[in-house]
Amino acid sequence: MTAIDIQTKYPPVRNYIAGGFVDADADYLDVFNPADGRVISRVPLSARADVDRAVAAAEKAFPVWSAMPIKERVQVFFRYKALLEKNIDELAKLITEENGKIDSEARAEVLKSAELCEFATSLPQITAGEVLEVSRGVECRVERYPVGVVACITPFNFPNMVPNWTIPNAIALGNCMILKPSELVPLSAGRIAELLREAGLPDGVLNIVHGGQQTVEAICDHPGIHGITFVGSTKVAKIVYRRGTQNLKRVLALGGAKNHLIVMPDAEPEMTSSNVVASMSGCAGQRCMAASVMMAVGKTDHIIERMVKIVRGMVPGQHIGPVISREAKKRIESYITEAEQQGAKVLVDGRGYTVPGKEEGYYVGPTLIDYVTPDMRIAQEEVFGPVMVIIRAKDVDDALGVQHRSPYGNAASVFTESGGVARYVMENASAGMVGVNVGVPVPREPFGFGGWNESKFGVGDITGRGSIEFWTQSKKMTTKWNKEAGVNWMS
Ligand code: NAD
Repeated sequence: MTAIDIQTKYPPVRNYIAGGFVDADADYLDVFNPADGRVISRVPLSARADVDRAVAAAEKAFPVWSAMPIKERVQVFFRYKALLEKNIDELAKLITEENGKIDSEARAEVLKSAELCEFATSLPQITAGEVLEVSRGVECRVERYPVGVVACITPFNFPNMVPNWTIPNAIALGNCMILKPSELVPLSAGRIAELLREAGLPDGVLNIVHGGQQTVEAICDHPGIHGITFVGSTKVAKIVYRRGTQNLKRVLALGGAKNHLIVMPDAEPEMTSSNVVASMSGCAGQRCMAASVMMAVGKTDHIIERMVKIVRGMVPGQHIGPVISREAKKRIESYITEAEQQGAKVLVDGRGYTVPGKEEGYYVGPTLIDYVTPDMRIAQEEVFGPVMVIIRAKDVDDALGVQHRSPYGNAASVFTESGGVARYVMENASAGMVGVNVGVPVPREPFGFGGWNESKFGVGDITGRGSIEFWTQSKKMTTKWNKEAGVNWMS
């Protein structure tokens, strides 16, 4: 398919290289609005030559950008943060159009991007380095230097926020970047580039190359790219981690998730039921932090009954957006059907849901399924839709046992009024982000974001302090100015 054969609401998406939008020499894919199934734009599947052009632009920009003092570099992010806030209506609308999430969720995403900038603007205060007189007249100091040209590969579920997990920190720390957004949601990236340009980011410091698998492979293989972050499914995280490190790059690859919420019988019913439902249904369940398994410990029927009531009151199209694609809707519904056939009890059924006037939209209603057993596929695999399975557990160790057998380890939470049980779960859950009475335990800045096990490959976190080591390399400097030092073991 070419870029120009049908009129769409937005013109075909273009790559952004050296401060300007350019066409790729590529095949194009349709971009859909998940709420009504309409084609709203087209996205190029860029080739190696496009990645080469972006890397050349980043390499050209790097010497000047990296030599600029960090206090000057972060000025761009003060201005960019203000622009995100000023343009939030339009940015949120774009997110809703390409991803489907409802307006309040899209706004929250932009506000989170602004918070990520807030952290980046504090980097001069927290990366000042170290210095010590290690012997008489001899000084050692450590300074941080950028890695060089780096790349960031992002998923469909947060078109604005996930690119902003990396852009502010990586660039403020002196790197130049190639962003490869998800081909399902390519529109927000162009606005990010425009706002950064308006904020004063020099040409070539951020470049965008759109595409899919072959574009990612070109990034992993490119000798001019020295670091890669990836966020997406575990299957692709493994591919990118292996291929990138095979090519001797530093790689941090965040993968998929299966997040367990342990609900104890003493949990406060109102807070617990509303938090659990918000966690499984927010962003139509398409968050890597969404709860998808509720481990109901002992007598928790009164909480489940409240959850059923809340879920029945939710209106798709109003309280919950569509999922990303027709295939995703089909896949999610088939998980529900299979669980039902295996003996689980569907308490609220979101299959076959349509929204009047948007019959072609990819809606799945919020779904609760009880009496799921840990051996069912729906209990083990990432469903990535608004579906909560309930597994009955006899005690907290039984519940933790199910959590431990999951290959993932992004998030886990416990709902209880007991401090002892809360601490026990926080210590023993096999996950990188744990919560107590919190349905979506995303750490806010300055704390870093990153899971364990097959939810993350590589060292460090993708945001916060945990990302500083990834985006920089330290230089250890030893100097001797004082002749009093004489000849010693450091000479
Ligand atoms: P995905 O893995 O399909 O795609 C992610 C990126 O990889 C996209 O840019 C895509 O173009 C590229 N890609 C796809 N297939 C590829 C291949 N074979 N080789 C090379 N590149 C390829 O993920 P998605 O469907 O866009 O996003 C949803 C997934 O992301 C879920 O699994 C979710 O849990 C995960 N996610 C994880 C986090 C986290 O922090 N751990 C955050 C957000 C999303």
